[in-house]
Amino acid sequence: MSALVPGTLPGPVWVAAPHPDDEALGCGGLIAALTGAGQEVWALLLSDGGLSHPTSRTYPRERLAGARLAEWRAGLAELGVPAARTRALGLPDGALGACPDALARGALAAFREAPPGTLLLPWARDPHPDHRAAWAPLLSAARAFPAVRVLAYTVWLEERGDPGDHPQPGEARSLTLDVGPWLGRKRRAILAHRTQLGLITDDPHGFTLPPGLVKRALGGTETYHEVPLSTQEVPA
Ligand SMILES: [Zn+2]
Repeated sequence: MSALVPGTLPGPVWVAAPHPDDEALGCGGLIAALTGAGQEVWALLLSDGGLSHPTSRTYPRERLAGARLAEWRAGLAELGVPAARTRALGLPDGALGACPDALARGALAAFREAPPGTLLLPWARDPHPDHRAAWAPLLSAARAFPAVRVLAYTVWLEERGDPGDHPQPGEARSLTLDVGPWLGRKRRAILAHRTQLGLITDDPHGFTLPPGLVKRALGGTETYHEVPLSTQEVPA
């Protein structure tokens, strides 16, 4: 696997996150490296994140979504991305597959504000339905910028992926980044997502980030799978 050299990525760099925390877990080190080097990084949040604690009484959906948006911006601030460079589409958490057109339209409108040189997004077969559903609409929006480099990050692939979920030979060019110098900032960005780390205690069905996943995310290496935009299937 080749080493990713952050300084070679053309800007502006957009990072798309289906849920608040995906960007910190999947590419927090790279974002910190880029902003630290003066690169312009923008972030696009796809869903409202409002489904993680469906039966909490203290955090009904609207309050939860508001808290998660604030956590997202706080985490990104740790990584050097100011709130002015964040955009949130507010699509329904858990149902991104039901709104591909709204996702593609919203992403395109956001990208036009700062035409991307690089797009970071979850890998096509990262094992979460919202992550998979985001792939085609995001690439469709990215196609308006033919020179854009597309690098996929992973969140759930290592812990939950089947062999077929991983990139197959010839499908992508895999790159690794040693995030050592930026690990402290990545840790603070992840820890900003307090609602996903045990803050809400009145929902037996509530979601908590698995400690093993967090530990790996802080393990010091990020892996990216770069795909050529031109050969990706055009969604029907
Ligand atoms: Zn996610």
